Amino acid sequence: MKPDSASLIATALQKDVQYLQGVGPDRGLLLQKLGLRTAQDLLFHFPRSYEFPPPLQTIAELQSGTQAAIVAQITEKEQRLTSSSKWMLGVLVEDSSGAARLIFFQPSGLTERFQRGQWLLIIGTPRLNGFRMEFVHPKVVIVDDPQEFRGGSILPVYGLTEGLQQSFLRRLIARTVEEVAGEVPEVLPVTIRERYDLPGIAAALEGIHRPQSQEQLEKSRERFIFQELLVLQLALALRRRRLTTDLRSLPLPATPEIDAAIRKRFPFSLTGDQERAIREVATDMGRQFPMNRLIQGDVGSGKTVVAEYAMLLAVAHHAQGVLMAPTELLARQHYATFERGLHASRVRLGLLTGTLRPHERRAILGQAAAGEIDILIGTQALLHADVQLPRLGLVVIDEQHKFGVAQRAQLRGDGIDPHCLVLSATPIPRTMAMTLFGDLELSTLREKPAGRGIVKTYLARNDWRDRWWDFVRQRLDEGRQAFVVTPLVKRGDELPSPKEEIPSSENEEADESGETTPEDVSTAESIYHQLSQGPLREYRVGLLHGRLSGDAKQAIMDQFSQGRLQVLVCTSVIEVGIDIPNATVMTILGAERFGLAQLHQLRGRIGRGKHPGHVGIFTDCNGHPEQFERLQVLARCDDGFELAEADYRLRGPGDLLGTRQSGLPPLRIADPQRDQELLMAARELAQERIEDDPHLENPEHARLRAQVLRRYGKVLELGDVG
Ligand code: ADP
Ligand code: MG
Repeated sequence: MKPDSASLIATALQKDVQYLQGVGPDRGLLLQKLGLRTAQDLLFHFPRSYEFPPPLQTIAELQSGTQAAIVAQITEKEQRLTSSSKWMLGVLVEDSSGAARLIFFQPSGLTERFQRGQWLLIIGTPRLNGFRMEFVHPKVVIVDDPQEFRGGSILPVYGLTEGLQQSFLRRLIARTVEEVAGEVPEVLPVTIRERYDLPGIAAALEGIHRPQSQEQLEKSRERFIFQELLVLQLALALRRRRLTTDLRSLPLPATPEIDAAIRKRFPFSLTGDQERAIREVATDMGRQFPMNRLIQGDVGSGKTVVAEYAMLLAVAHHAQGVLMAPTELLARQHYATFERGLHASRVRLGLLTGTLRPHERRAILGQAAAGEIDILIGTQALLHADVQLPRLGLVVIDEQHKFGVAQRAQLRGDGIDPHCLVLSATPIPRTMAMTLFGDLELSTLREKPAGRGIVKTYLARNDWRDRWWDFVRQRLDEGRQAFVVTPLVKRGDELPSPKEEIPSSENEEADESGETTPEDVSTAESIYHQLSQGPLREYRVGLLHGRLSGDAKQAIMDQFSQGRLQVLVCTSVIEVGIDIPNATVMTILGAERFGLAQLHQLRGRIGRGKHPGHVGIFTDCNGHPEQFERLQVLARCDDGFELAEADYRLRGPGDLLGTRQSGLPPLRIADPQRDQELLMAARELAQERIEDDPHLENPEHARLRAQVLRRYGKVLELGDVG
């Protein structure tokens, strides 16, 4: 290609949308709102969905009452007031076989859009009115060229912004495809296209925007889905390679002596899954490049033990370990657990949270920097730049699936990188794990430790409350303790609207370090008052919510864990990690406001000791059987993995684990759950290619490499690849 023709092509693709035919500055601004600045952007603004109009008929062929599509030309339009003084627009259209009428009530905006002489594709169900077929509110598409729609054309439907017409965008994109799609450089090497039978980029652009058949449409979509997943998987494979070959960690092998010494500290025998996870962790930590492992296990499966093992392994080698928890409560709980387990040892512990007073914080930081702390436990406060750990060997992140690839990068020191272990109780569907945490190794704890009390879940309607409180009082009288979980209700939103998904408390209330929007605790407060003056007035009831200060929260938690409080009314602050074996009864109110996975997490707070656990789930689903049904799944199913899949199906990926949470840019066309097969293929191919061509230097990979770096270079720190 001659250089000047290359630059010509670049300008055709880079042409500002407002200078394209029929756009202009006003529409140019609207397009910009959609992120569409250049002709090339238009090409990659893929349809959100498609319409499949029925085969075309002529007006003479129309049957009253049968859905049909026609292409006809506007001959007249007339707007008038109906007898009930509403505006009505009548449009007369004709094709070579006859005339039909279109009727629109309250046609705001439409009147100006229709022009005499214009051709329309009309889809609807006509009725004979007098001697004329009449369409009331048909679907109408303005077409430039009536020849274009000869039969069964598939119509793309694009994402819009206010003020932008579907028909306008459709025509603009169709024209752009026609004019410049051929100039878009091919990204996928021919070897890959042939192996997976994928169309070339120009053909695929044509097929995704102006498909002539369902088959062509699917092939074209498949190409772009595969390309998007391949770019992501290449990025992750590059990063994984970088982690294993370019980064150095302290090798912290588990010698038989060390292993035996650590195990002595565990008061129980480990489950088979714990054993396996520990072996995997020990193998990883024995290497001189960083461990990057995710331990996923249902609530109560005993992940903490695995983390303890890893910590003590680091300490045995005189390295420092950091344990980061999502909330202050959990950080303190871990601190207490470690303190208990290590009281007779020389291991030095430190606690660093956002609520320390400045001098306390300075003292801890000083000790950490001087190597006088072996294990530093804390919240996100640990991420701050002034935290220095000269012999940092291991970072453990607890209950934080939100920490994706990008966030983990922050914890890296320079020079020597720590081993990294992430614990997550939200079972991550395999596909998500592969997409979002593609550079992580995975250990799974499925088995529950033996000797656990079983947990029964009851789904109850609100009118059963009296009987339930009777039951709770009996348990309290036996010496057990109880949680009462209340939903977060925003002001002005007191009436549950069943259709609308309630954001999970994680998004809503954030961490208890109080760094984000405070929760509205009025529901919790009023339930606390109702209970402590009503059904539970003879018991010691406490209230815990995210508005309290860290100290106040801790004080209440302490009272509860020491048994001085019998009942804890709380918001979902207790969702993760809290471990109080004597608490065996949980009441969840307003359950329709929680996601399944979240309810399961809550339920995991009980049945942690030898006594059986009971969960009463209350919901006001009157008239909303589908809500009730959703919650019944929970009563039936005790497996967090199954529930996560169910929740994912019911609520979509956005709620459980979006790419939002991984810190990676969102996928545009691929959906890892739906496109599992393509995902697997892309992953395999990416690994293969990176093995052969570790820096993607082969010229056939040049364009792929450019895409990988543009999209993921920064978040995945791939900048110095090649
Ligand atoms: P999670 O995976 O939810 O974080 P934890 O690690 O907090 O679970 O463990 C839950 C409880 O089970 C803790 O009280 C812990 O001491 C106990 N536990 C863990 N492993 C075992 C085991 N193998 N046998 C008996 N109890 C165990
Ligand atoms: Mg835990």
